[in-house]
Amino acid sequence: QVLEPIIPCKVPEKIKNNLEFKNVGFFYHNNVKNVINCVNFSIKPGEIVALVGENGSGKSTIVKLLARLYDPQQGHIFLDGQDIKNFKTDDFRKKISVVFQDHIKYQLSAKENIFLGDIEQKDNTSKIIEAARQTDVDEKISGFPSGYNTLLGKWFKNGEELSIGQWQMVAISRAFFRDAEIVILDEPSSALDPETEMIIFSKLKKLMKGRAALIISHRYSTVKMADKILVLDKGHIIEQGSHEELIKENGKYAKLYKTQ
Ligand code: ADP
Repeated sequence: QVLEPIIPCKVPEKIKNNLEFKNVGFFYHNNVKNVINCVNFSIKPGEIVALVGENGSGKSTIVKLLARLYDPQQGHIFLDGQDIKNFKTDDFRKKISVVFQDHIKYQLSAKENIFLGDIEQKDNTSKIIEAARQTDVDEKISGFPSGYNTLLGKWFKNGEELSIGQWQMVAISRAFFRDAEIVILDEPSSALDPETEMIIFSKLKKLMKGRAALIISHRYSTVKMADKILVLDKGHIIEQGSHEELIKENGKYAKLYKTQ
């Protein structure tokens, strides 16, 4: 889908400024109509950005463009001022980790669940434990008789089941194991109770430590805690700002927030 540059630029070791969508427009090839139009936003290290909008408004498309599964036909996506098309796709993707929260349960050992984030480092046990410590699931895993070799999930006779919240933390550990500086969290459409979600989110804020997070969320109790909220409507960002700013603006976000 995407073209590799002939002479690639070097991906910055650490993101200094931001990742920026500038006038990005995109259509799928079987559909000549744009699904997103003139999308402008930026996300910087340490920031949590929430993306909200009805089904079909283009949220997943933005994630796909960000992960460079496709290139936009209009506008550009920049990382520290460099068009991401100028990077080798694999190098750029190392910066990003997508946690699809509807698919977080891998019925594998605890160790495998974490090192799947970066297979090349599968033997780096201390790093696996460190990633689990960061999300506080280390205690739970270490408590099993077989520790990190414990099979997770009830598919296995000897498997140990985790709570949904703990599965989520394992998924986030997997993302952290990979040193990804940009973490995309695609929220579960159901499952999580609001309280667990709140706990996870407040933890996440502490955990991000300089990483950037983009959260796709349907739940306004989560969204309101983001540093910046992007409101997507039919492929356009119609409002962006903090919860307080958007409530003051009294537009679509304020209306949706009040009805939920
Ligand atoms: P959201 O994540 O907000 O639900 P999407 O980004 O998935 O929205 O979809 C935006 C629009 O693009 C929708 O009209 C959807 O039907 C269309 N779309 C999504 N994926 C594809 C695809 N692979 N091919 C063609 N159209 C698509």
